[in-house]
Amino acid sequence: NKVIEATNVSKWYGAFRALADVNLTVRKGERIVICGPSGSGKSTLIRCFNRLEAHQQGEIVVNGIRLHNKMRDVTEVRKNVGMVFQHFNLFPHMTVLMNCMAGPMWTKGVSEPDARKTALKFLERVRIPEQANKFPIQLSGGQQQRVAIARSLCMEPEVMLFDEPTSALDPEMVSEVLETMTSLARDGMTMVCVTHEMGFARAVADRVIFMDRGQIVEEGNPHDFFTRP
Ligand code: ADP
Ligand code: ADP
Repeated sequence: NKVIEATNVSKWYGAFRALADVNLTVRKGERIVICGPSGSGKSTLIRCFNRLEAHQQGEIVVNGIRLHNKMRDVTEVRKNVGMVFQHFNLFPHMTVLMNCMAGPMWTKGVSEPDARKTALKFLERVRIPEQANKFPIQLSGGQQQRVAIARSLCMEPEVMLFDEPTSALDPEMVSEVLETMTSLARDGMTMVCVTHEMGFARAVADRVIFMDRGQIVEEGNPHDFFTRP
């Protein structure tokens, strides 16, 4: 029931070591929050999990697929691993509905009617079905981020990665996105979230991981983490 297993993972950008012997196992249904100072490698680590970045040493296995140096076909990996970014990365020229339909149709070969059904189901799930025919620019930041979450869910991934999903939002929109993420967690979605939202971590995380200078320097359950003297 291991969805992600990273063993002694290291990565360099030129001479700079961004990840240094990182070990992390993510089991099915687990909710992990990664925190730590800016530049500590949090984003790099989770980007290695869906092969947006390539690690150079160690081993990463995602849903039984071993990611390796010369890997070319990353489609299978990305089908299993949904990702939500700080900047929503929606396709600006497509409606909300098409944004959600595109992945299943293009990478999974799902028929248009089925993709539409799935898209509407997940737009309902993030509580914005009425925005389906709008374009991203017509939506608030919080709504766009919920579309981005719905779009990822349409691929029915094994695990969802969140890379500071609320840090580009106006403060009044943070809570609607955190509520959506909390509701996914309650439904049993396996999640790895890079976030500074400690209230979310306390309420939702099974494990909190603290990174510094490319390493995991602390790890514990949120209760220990936040109440220790
Ligand atoms: P390839 O993809 O050609 O096999 P990689 O870029 O994955 O090459 O790196 C190969 C090896 O070189 C890795 O095992 C890693 O340890 C080492 N390496 C890569 N970049 C650096 C660097 N900037 N400094 C030190 N070692 C590095
Ligand atoms: P965090 O998510 O914890 O803020 P990152 O994983 O984004 O940290 O970055 C870790 C370190 O790697 C930072 O020092 C950053 O400047 C550096 N870095 C990230 N991406 C690149 C890149 N494409 N080229 C060179 N350095 C990079």
